[in-house]
Amino acid sequence: MESGLLKDKLNCVKCTEPCSLMKRKKSPNESIWRCKKCRAEKSLRIGSWFSCSKLNLQEILLLTWHLISGTKTCDIERHFGFSSATLADWHQFVHKQVLDHVELTSSKIGGVGKVVEVDESKFGKRKYHREHYVEGQWVFVGFDFIKGVP
Ligand SMILES: [Zn+2]
Repeated sequence: MESGLLKDKLNCVKCTEPCSLMKRKKSPNESIWRCKKCRAEKSLRIGSWFSCSKLNLQEILLLTWHLISGTKTCDIERHFGFSSATLADWHQFVHKQVLDHVELTSSKIGGVGKVVEVDESKFGKRKYHREHYVEGQWVFVGFDFIKGVP
């Protein structure tokens, strides 16, 4: 909650009264939101990155970190024991979220009187220490500036 990953307050979806955080008996490691007036309950995870999974919060953070960091899914599967179906679902979900974020926060560059420079880098490891071939991911970056003004 302090980091903004989970909501720090919630109003009831039925009566709009503020909810309180309560310990859930069947899963004491995870709290629930309960309406003070009508007693309706909602998951602590509502509206968060964690809302659509049965994994615990620590597992989701771990999985997300490794997927974003580029750890190979076979290594994640071997080290942490997640099923291949779980890994495939999360891999797809994380990449969709990243692409959606990039699409939402990106803007078109260039235009009249502007200069665009494009640079490319490939991040990865040289395979089998052979010359030139690098296994990895290409990253393209575009710079946009007015001519004479860097
Ligand atoms: Zn209520």
